[in-house]
Amino acid sequence: MLVITADVVRDILSVKSCMNVMERALTDLANGQALQVLRTVLPLEGENVLGQMPSYLKNDGVIGTKVITVYPDNNQIGFPSHQGVVLLFNAINGKLQAIVDGNEITAIRTAAVSSIATDLLANKNSHTLSILGTGEQARSHLEAMLLVRPIKYVRVWSRHRKNGLAFKEEMEAKLNISVDVSDSAEEAVHQADIICTVTAAREPILKGEWVKEGAHINAVGACKANDRELATDLVKKSEFYVDRVESATKESGDFLIPLQEGVINESHIKGEIGELLIGKIPGRKSEKSITIFNSLGLAIEDIAAANFIYKEMSKKNEVSNY
Ligand code: NDP
Repeated sequence: MLVITADVVRDILSVKSCMNVMERALTDLANGQALQVLRTVLPLEGENVLGQMPSYLKNDGVIGTKVITVYPDNNQIGFPSHQGVVLLFNAINGKLQAIVDGNEITAIRTAAVSSIATDLLANKNSHTLSILGTGEQARSHLEAMLLVRPIKYVRVWSRHRKNGLAFKEEMEAKLNISVDVSDSAEEAVHQADIICTVTAAREPILKGEWVKEGAHINAVGACKANDRELATDLVKKSEFYVDRVESATKESGDFLIPLQEGVINESHIKGEIGELLIGKIPGRKSEKSITIFNSLGLAIEDIAAANFIYKEMSKKNEVSNY
């Protein structure tokens, strides 16, 4: 059994390589070749939770589960808000093959899936990117968006300007692109072609009137039924895609709150990214449509990423037969 640390995950799993892995996993899910159940969430003090996300990838012969704590206020005491591991098992004999750092996998696989959604849904000439939030996901999403569209302008917003400035300094050095720090979310999304909402906000931070025609939005931050980043008017006027309908209808405040308000109905969900990948559903209707990809995060993504890393290490003979 192998213990795979965050450094090794970072070395092996680039966002680009992860996109290929995620495409395959989402395709398998859409074709019924991957199974998962909804995550279980144990509520702790305040907004803290312990979550578990199991899945089975039939074509890869692996099963596994991610176990993760989410402590949203951890940034204030110098810890990541998400900490956990992915346990990877052989599906034939049930053996535990690897314990893989879950923080890095979560950051990379989420951004990789958003980049697949963006590639499928955003207008081709999208060149202005806005990122709301400056945490782990903001970092991986900036890298991911640059892979799929010819981004020339990047604007970022955080509640605390110093976090925006730290993000700018780090990401400009890392990715060789200029990043502007905006003073408000409204300013940040002005004329943006692509918007990534990657905050732990519980109330809307993005309004429909601020979003231009033709924009694509990756709504990633809100993963609980009572939390949302998107205002009702925005959801209502958009074409709304999800990673998994079963997850969205149980876990997505961005979808469930407008539904409870009676402003949209269940059929507002156009379908899943995997269904777009296999051509089962159409993409955006017109260049003027506003498209939303609502990401809840799926167990199959974690297991597929962990298995990819394990197999890459096997190729390098870094895995014994134990
Ligand atoms: P981080 O803790 O690294 O960053 C959180 C970010 O959210 C910070 O920029 C913080 O801003 C901002 N923020 C917190 N509260 C608010 C608020 N009330 N209004 C506006 N901004 C706020 O978290 P991650 O980057 O790892 O994750 C971001 C979000 O994405 C989380 O909610 C997380 O649960 C979710 N997530 C979703 C996944 C998916 O698969 N869909 C996977 C992983 C995470 P500030 O600097 O001002 O404090």
